[in-house]
Amino acid sequence: MESIRSKKITSSSTFVINKKVNELRKKGIDVINFGLGESHFKIHKIIKDEAIKAIKNDKRRYTRVEGADTLRDAIAKYLTKYNLRYGKNDIIVDAGSKHIIFSLMLALADPGDEIILQAPYWLSYYDQAKLAQLKIKILKTNEESNFKIDPDELDKTITKKTRMFILNSPNNPAGIVYKKKELEKIAEVIVDNRIYIISDEIYSEFTYYGKHVSIASLNEEIEKLAIVTGGASKSYAIGGWRLGFAASKDKEVVSALEKIISNTTSCAPIISQMACAKAFSKINDSYVKKWAKLYKKNGEYIYKCLSKLDGMKCVKPEGAYYIFPNISCFFGKKYKNKLIKNAEDFCSLLLEEGRVATLPGGDFGIKENFRIAYGISHNEVIEGCKRIVDFVNKIR
Ligand code: PLP
Repeated sequence: MESIRSKKITSSSTFVINKKVNELRKKGIDVINFGLGESHFKIHKIIKDEAIKAIKNDKRRYTRVEGADTLRDAIAKYLTKYNLRYGKNDIIVDAGSKHIIFSLMLALADPGDEIILQAPYWLSYYDQAKLAQLKIKILKTNEESNFKIDPDELDKTITKKTRMFILNSPNNPAGIVYKKKELEKIAEVIVDNRIYIISDEIYSEFTYYGKHVSIASLNEEIEKLAIVTGGASKSYAIGGWRLGFAASKDKEVVSALEKIISNTTSCAPIISQMACAKAFSKINDSYVKKWAKLYKKNGEYIYKCLSKLDGMKCVKPEGAYYIFPNISCFFGKKYKNKLIKNAEDFCSLLLEEGRVATLPGGDFGIKENFRIAYGISHNEVIEGCKRIVDFVNKIR
């Protein structure tokens, strides 16, 4: 019988929608997939060659739990481009940053301790915190605040039981990016209250305007409390290869993570580790920048199309590959006699009738919106927007 803990969570809806899209495509129905947040570009030759070389060289054993030296060295060096000063021993690698974030919750908080999330949030933070039996406190944001938290509100939300706050910039699902000044204010609150901040920077390469700023780079005090997480899934488009990392100056954090990883995944896949050691050290910035440019173009195109629609409120994306429009103006209206009560109805009708897959905002903690993930080709984006506009124009 399923445990109470397991019953409290749901399968990640991004994978559920992907399964639905694949089933429809198998039936010959052409669907634009704005559902799954995944980079679409081809794997870089350096990564492929190194993976093949690793297989040919019989690389098959477990590595050290924290990851191969060459890889941790490469990640530490890579992070210097964001003014982050980590050494190899401050880095720990795992099978995806998703598992690292969950491990951090287990490593740094006990059941009943508090975690603060901003809503909208990346859906796995929420279910992972439930699995870790943490008390979740939500800081709601909306279009008026540009989906950014108010540091004073963060300060007021922190209690003696609060262990950590998760920051995600560039952000999934809102597409926003915190500016340096905003990060400075958040850092002040974190340092004053001495809680951990997990800074999920998995989309750092997809910062459209200016350079990515890591909160951990601001000063020595925040550096001590920040744990930076990232990985290869988005920057190198190899999500299935499962390679993520955490960086922390706090030895206790790294050793607690090591204990959890050693008893769960053991280590990240060795082939991915070998390939990513080369990726982080050898792939030129201009390669990922090319894709970041395309995603910026996609975001600007979608923003332009959807903001023209009567009643739909959008915040212009500044990074990652997501936009999170408010569609509450359609609630209570009908599409071909079918009532749209909420964002779930909107998204399922858009899939059934408009053949566009998206996700309802409730999955991310905000019921009035829906998420469009646009890490796909520009032509698909143009077609997807056309279909959304046609669909919305038929709502009465
Ligand atoms: N963090 C955010 C905000 C994400 O959107 C994702 C993936 O969608 C991840 C972390 C997990 O990435 P991975 O486990 O592939 O490293």
